Amino acid sequence: MTAKHYRADQSAQRIDQSFHANERMDDEFLLRYSRQILLPEVGTEGQARLAQARALVIGVGGLGSPAALYLAAAGVGEITLCDHDHVELSNLQRQIAHRHADLGRPKVESGREALLALDPQLHVRVIAGRLVGAALEEECARADVVLDASDNFPTREAVNAACVATGTPLVSGAAIRFEGQVAVFDPARGGPCYRCLYREGADTEQTCSETGVIAPLVGIVGSVQALEAVKVLLGIGESLAGRLLLLDGLHMQWRELRLPRDPGCPVCGETRDELDNAGG
Ligand SMILES: [Zn+2]
Repeated sequence: MTAKHYRADQSAQRIDQSFHANERMDDEFLLRYSRQILLPEVGTEGQARLAQARALVIGVGGLGSPAALYLAAAGVGEITLCDHDHVELSNLQRQIAHRHADLGRPKVESGREALLALDPQLHVRVIAGRLVGAALEEECARADVVLDASDNFPTREAVNAACVATGTPLVSGAAIRFEGQVAVFDPARGGPCYRCLYREGADTEQTCSETGVIAPLVGIVGSVQALEAVKVLLGIGESLAGRLLLLDGLHMQWRELRLPRDPGCPVCGETRDELDNAGG
């Protein structure tokens, strides 16, 4: 059994143990989540699983705002928000966790307030800075699912590497202009990682601040990320692992690409361990 499989098993075991010890199955809990509990794929057991689950959201901007709000509304018990930025006027067009009154505040602070306004019983952790190195790996190891809602390749690559190293499923989203994309990377359970898809890296990076983005697009993509994360946490349906979902919002057309795993991938491929050792 590899280290990453061990961690995934540990995580499942922790959720199961917590479920039996769960004290939140009261009337308010059952009523709040009644429309989800009605779903046979969720039920009270699934809802209790969500209440004990931990999600890490990297970036509380256009994608992270709706993703985190929907995770909170769906009842994911612990949500960690990570962002180094402060709220600016040009953010408010699409970053719906933040309000005009939040201008100048750290995004993680206004984000936390928005989530706790939905449900004061949620556990919302905040990291007001850039997660790198060992700290990033620790946070990914702690999480049952990671949502990459960042806007740049270096962060995406670092988050992907940390998720591969810790065996944590990664739900990746991106949006620019009228175009969005979502994928799930979970090589511990099969399929490619983010780096298999983007071997060439950051050369063609474009950001919303340079090219623009239409407001509701990030809401769609962030919401798809939240749904994929909930499915991963519940172990239901068919995730976007191994598939890249593409949205052309201007013509409202969805496409899907199959993503193969790259055996030569420096992050998840067969030569990974040798590279790790070489790099110390
Ligand atoms: Zn890979």
